Amino acid sequence: MYTKRKFRYAQHSSGVAWVDFTFRRMRVVLVKVVEKIVLKKRLTHTDHTKTSGRKCVLLGLWVPSEKTIYINSATKDLKGAHHPMTKTLIHELYHILDETASEQEVIRADKILWRMYSPGQKEELKRFIPKNDPSVELLLL
Ligand SMILES: [Zn+2]
Repeated sequence: MYTKRKFRYAQHSSGVAWVDFTFRRMRVVLVKVVEKIVLKKRLTHTDHTKTSGRKCVLLGLWVPSEKTIYINSATKDLKGAHHPMTKTLIHELYHILDETASEQEVIRADKILWRMYSPGQKEELKRFIPKNDPSVELLLL
């Protein structure tokens, strides 16, 4: 028989140790490292970095100096495919967890995690994304 506590834990388990471990680390990063998550309607490289001369549309961006994750609030990627903001958040959080990982490695990880996280785990991460007005900033205290 499931107690309520066990049931709630089950919601936050994918059944795979590495996936659950990564989920718990992402939650800690959201609470302790990230100070703000900001939604932007248009997010480009030149908004925040001086490395690229041309404007390049981004789905998300982690700016360590601002302790801020920017998320493009458009729900489609450049090819028009549906791209949930929670998936972008997972991508940016993975960058924070593994600073030495290449972009390709992070993309590979976020694909696996997006597939493996339980609905409860995705919902828990989604809670940190600001709602309603895209210009609203959410302070994570
Ligand atoms: Zn990236």
